[in-house]
Amino acid sequence: MAASSKVKTRVGENIELGFVEEVDSECLLSYQFPSKVGGLPAWLSLKPLPCLDELQCRKCDEPTVFLLQVYAPRDHSELTFHRTIFIFICRNPACCQPNNNDNLRVFRSHLARINDFYSPEPPTDAVTASTSADKRPHARDYQTLCVICGAPGPKTCSRCHKTSYCSKLHQTIDWKAIHKTICKDDGGGDTASGETVLTFKHPNVLFPEFELVTEKEDFQATKVKSNEDKMKEYREFLSSDSAKDIDDSLNPEELDKMATKSSEDDEQFQAFKDRIRHEPEQVLRFDRGGEPLWISASNTPSEIPTCSCGSSRQFEFQVLPQLLCQLDVDSVGESLDWGVMAVYTCSQDCDIGNKYQEEFIWKQDLVKTD
Ligand SMILES: [Zn+2]
Ligand SMILES: [Zn+2]
Ligand SMILES: [Zn+2]
Ligand SMILES: [Zn+2]
Repeated sequence: MAASSKVKTRVGENIELGFVEEVDSECLLSYQFPSKVGGLPAWLSLKPLPCLDELQCRKCDEPTVFLLQVYAPRDHSELTFHRTIFIFICRNPACCQPNNNDNLRVFRSHLARINDFYSPEPPTDAVTASTSADKRPHARDYQTLCVICGAPGPKTCSRCHKTSYCSKLHQTIDWKAIHKTICKDDGGGDTASGETVLTFKHPNVLFPEFELVTEKEDFQATKVKSNEDKMKEYREFLSSDSAKDIDDSLNPEELDKMATKSSEDDEQFQAFKDRIRHEPEQVLRFDRGGEPLWISASNTPSEIPTCSCGSSRQFEFQVLPQLLCQLDVDSVGESLDWGVMAVYTCSQDCDIGNKYQEEFIWKQDLVKTD
């Protein structure tokens, strides 16, 4: 095999791994500053939210939906006492193209400890769903939200004038699924409380909801192995459950063929698998200022665009393909897919007030070649 100088497997010391865990939705609300996957976004800054243009898919112009958020405060500035990164994705499989990020949007939000929305004291367990709403600030207290996706909802049902939507698409989905049976001219039907409306979750729009919990990666770099050892391990790995988890959609012959080709891509793919096999359930790797663990040596970004403030962006975390197994998106034929999604954010966390700043995401796919 070729020298592996270009294969990037940094032995990071401060890498945090993310795992999904089932938990009650009531534990994943804005005032609890969660990291989470699926369900509705738990907005950090409660106003202004990203505008609808910013939340659109760049391919089809339809609204993207919430994929995940990572609560990642930084102590380098008072402004980032609370800090969360959000990823949104278009659910239309046709918009999901290899090595193209047009179906993704990513945002940074941060707030100082003393801010316009939350208490400076951490939330306590005593604050529960039954606690008064003023202790549980929510974005709907500041603007109407789409009942389907939790984005700003400036459009209102013209019959009941009560239920709000971000778009025609989400109104249509809601109408067919439930709203036609509860909408009344006089405004009855839906309860007056937006909260009740929002608890109806459309399974074809929102992803299943999980908490994202992190733990430090415990990884010991092993000694340099011979190529024979590598191949032996690799073949063992291919027949293991972990390999199946990593990518069900690649058939074993294809994987095998890729393994026997002596190329940088294969080595990087192998390095990727070697690194994650220790914790095959990981769905996210957090390594601010580090390097992504690429799935392939091809299609890595040559240049990361600078932030609108002029500062460079740095790598912050990556989403792994294992997350797809949790999202109920695998269907025969086309579906959402990714190899690695690497998120880069402003290294200076420039002051954005209560606004959401769009950041940069790079989607890398494993493109099968003959
Ligand atoms: Zn789209
Ligand atoms: Zn919507
Ligand atoms: Zn209505
Ligand atoms: Zn910036």
